[in-house]
Amino acid sequence: RCAEAERVRREMHNTILDLKGAIRVFVRVRPAADEAQQSVRFCGSGALELQTGQGRTAGVTAFSFDRIFAPSAPQEEVFDEVSQLVQSAMDGYRVCIFAYGATGSGKTHTMIGGGGKERGVIPRSIDKLYARACELQQLHGWSIMLKATCLEVFCDELIDLLGDGPPAGKKHTISHGAGCVERRSVAATACNERSSRSHLVFALAVSASNCRTGQKMLGLLNLVDLAGSERLSKSGAASDRLKETQAINKSLSSLGDVIAALGSKAEHVPYRNSKLTWLLQPCLSADAKTLFIINISADSQAATQESLCSLRFGAKINATTIGVPRPCRIERLDSKQASRA
Ligand code: ADP
Ligand code: MG
Repeated sequence: RCAEAERVRREMHNTILDLKGAIRVFVRVRPAADEAQQSVRFCGSGALELQTGQGRTAGVTAFSFDRIFAPSAPQEEVFDEVSQLVQSAMDGYRVCIFAYGATGSGKTHTMIGGGGKERGVIPRSIDKLYARACELQQLHGWSIMLKATCLEVFCDELIDLLGDGPPAGKKHTISHGAGCVERRSVAATACNERSSRSHLVFALAVSASNCRTGQKMLGLLNLVDLAGSERLSKSGAASDRLKETQAINKSLSSLGDVIAALGSKAEHVPYRNSKLTWLLQPCLSADAKTLFIINISADSQAATQESLCSLRFGAKINATTIGVPRPCRIERLDSKQASRA
């Protein structure tokens, strides 16, 4: 019954994406320090109102998204909603899940999280793909390889955090289709004090072949904890952080530009304007699946302007239709390859 329910959920998920196109946008609101000071009002599971300004400048802006998670939503509930996308990587799709928002809005909590029930999307995705790979190997004759890479994009340079291949911590160059490094449990390396000033890209590549049916499949899952999206003026503009902040702003606007170009079906998509979009190019296309989780704080004291900027970014993405996702490579092995497999 479980397998049947899972199949129905998967079909529903693909039907929604067929109707809506390849991009979905969720919002996650982290708890306010003082609940009486909430700046967010929830209107059902897909709409919210943000209160901005005070006194005469007070106003309310309404937004609607595919799904909104209130501060009480546990990690499990968030993963439950994104797990179909994770599963898609196992079905041969290219998938990209972004956590977007200002520093302190809950991006790392969403993507990495803590231990036990507090585990975020990355550790839960590894578990889900690993369990599914074991099941497919044991029951359905698939031979599956999972490979993980973990890169930090800092000041438009790539740094390898896992460390096989190019030396750990050394600059990395982009080469699509090249081998990735094997999984290691050093993701905590990424949780350093500069994590809010760099993008973390955790990628899981799935390559599978089935000796019974001769099918071959490649899927890719990118899980991205983006750098804080706050504006220049908020982060000490004249300090030595200026260069970092400019690099962050440039890469985040490049990400928006790439999605806008895909939406308008432009002939040229400016992937190479930042290392982030260049790195993610295979997963940022009309036939891949993209999810943005926009993180904001419910706190009216901190960050209302930042929340407004983040929600506007999300609304723009949400209004973009970039195509219908298709599995990236499912092909049959020829009979000789199949008998060797
Ligand atoms: P960011 O990565 O966006 O800078 P963090 O994920 O580090 O922000 O979150 C800042 C703080 O708020 C952390 O202490 C984190 O544990 C806490 N936090 C974030 N989101 C939630 C949430 N949904 N529920 C409870 N605590 C949260
Ligand atoms: Mg963070």
